[in-house]
Amino acid sequence: MTTPTPTASLYAPRLPIFPRRVSGFYRRLKWTLLVVTLGIYYITPWLRWDRGPEMPDQAVLIDMANRRFYFFMIEIWPHEFYFVAGMLVMAGLALFLFTAALGRVWCGYACPQTVWTDLFILVERWIEGDRNARVRLHQAPWDLRKWRLRITKWVVWLVIGLLTGGAWVFYFTDAPTLLVDLANFSAPPIAYITIAILTATTFVFGGFMREQVCIYMCPWPRIQAAMMDEDTLTVAYRDWRGEPRGKGLRRRAAAEEAEASIRAAGPQIGPRSPVIPMPGMPSGLRVPKNTVAKGDCIDCNACVNVCPMGIDIRDGQQMACITCALCIDACDEVMEKTGQPRGLIDYIALSDAPAEAAGQPPQSVWRHVLRARNLIYAGLWSGIGIALVFALFLRPEVEMTVAPIRNPTHVVLADGTIRNAYDVRVRNKQGTEQIFDLSLDKPGLIITVEGSETDKITVPADSQGQARVYVDAPAGSPLAKSARSDLRLWVTGLESGERAAVETNFTGKGTE
Ligand code: SF4
Ligand code: SF4
Repeated sequence: MTTPTPTASLYAPRLPIFPRRVSGFYRRLKWTLLVVTLGIYYITPWLRWDRGPEMPDQAVLIDMANRRFYFFMIEIWPHEFYFVAGMLVMAGLALFLFTAALGRVWCGYACPQTVWTDLFILVERWIEGDRNARVRLHQAPWDLRKWRLRITKWVVWLVIGLLTGGAWVFYFTDAPTLLVDLANFSAPPIAYITIAILTATTFVFGGFMREQVCIYMCPWPRIQAAMMDEDTLTVAYRDWRGEPRGKGLRRRAAAEEAEASIRAAGPQIGPRSPVIPMPGMPSGLRVPKNTVAKGDCIDCNACVNVCPMGIDIRDGQQMACITCALCIDACDEVMEKTGQPRGLIDYIALSDAPAEAAGQPPQSVWRHVLRARNLIYAGLWSGIGIALVFALFLRPEVEMTVAPIRNPTHVVLADGTIRNAYDVRVRNKQGTEQIFDLSLDKPGLIITVEGSETDKITVPADSQGQARVYVDAPAGSPLAKSARSDLRLWVTGLESGERAAVETNFTGKGTE
């Protein structure tokens, strides 16, 4: 009988991460962006914009029921989806540009997952204390104090999640009306379902999954390597300056001993997160054993302790690194205390590493940023943006489509008149109701609107009107006798004077 060979488990449980508080330029920048982005998200649905008495006054509104997107003075109709497509392409190009120039700057500063996680960690720190207090609480048994702190934190997280989900639904209908309806439990069920889903995802993603979302769920880290190259400025460790690391002139073995005691004291729970290298990027610095420690890195682990991803930037470029730059702040603080120059961890282009290691200055930031690839991205982005702005301001206030009825192509009335029928749609993009006059470019033809004595169509504000229109050619007239004639149909707003025309044709008896 053969004994089954034990296989290694492919499952690795999540190691809790307790980022330490840090201060510095990048932390302040991140706080500023957090306030700005969250402010924009929560406040925008409450901004008003006067578009006229018959139009919604919400500045930013995705009106699914009426198939409109309002953005301040801009209104996008369904047939103008190319504007949305253009903006999405611009957003993609901006992401390419920023990633090629500054690495994962989107992930580190503006991604909703990063922003909400930062907010959740801030709440956690307010309630449970900084890193060491949180580590102790994590290790403590579930007593009354631990329950009290945990429940308080979860409740605040849930409120943030609720506000997040609540703000989202306000983008889709008039916010003040929906707020009243929600409070009266008379809002549509989909509003409650959406809020519940977004509350739950915000609570779980920001509170419990955090770095797991970035490492395992988000596709962006996997494709960013294609966007970055050796000229990209990204957060990196100047190993040529920092290594061999250690405290003073002691041997590496002693340094490892010290690190073990630091870890045992609680700053790190379990081993560090595994190093997942970025494809094509150098990683996995290894310091030979028994090396005299004379680099600038004192191996204090401050950069590791502030990292929201639980990684060590000294291991090289890693997929888990969101380039939040907090390790730069932490290390700069240490460098100031030890009297060393700042920038042991910094935004660095890998192409500068050999020169810097040889004691030469790096290339200027602009040489890295203003290179062909980035200029192409910027050029494409600007070109599409300019085209969209022109298209936006040149688009007409009135549009018309004309569909000739082909079954039958024409009818002969009792007096010999030849009649053609057309389905006409008129889009009135103005904020007031308009009466439109229909006319033709050929004299002698008579135009009438079905169900009306006139040749007028009334279209409410910001709507599309539709009518069956008849064009009659008197018996014996050239158009009545011709097989097919070109025809131009005009529509003119009686009040606004706005006009639109469509080329179509008229089918006669074909006796000529
Ligand atoms: S190593 Fe950590 S702290 Fe440093 S930039 Fe990357 S994610 Fe941020
Ligand atoms: S914070 Fe700076 S000095 Fe401290 S371990 Fe990190 S790189 Fe070394």
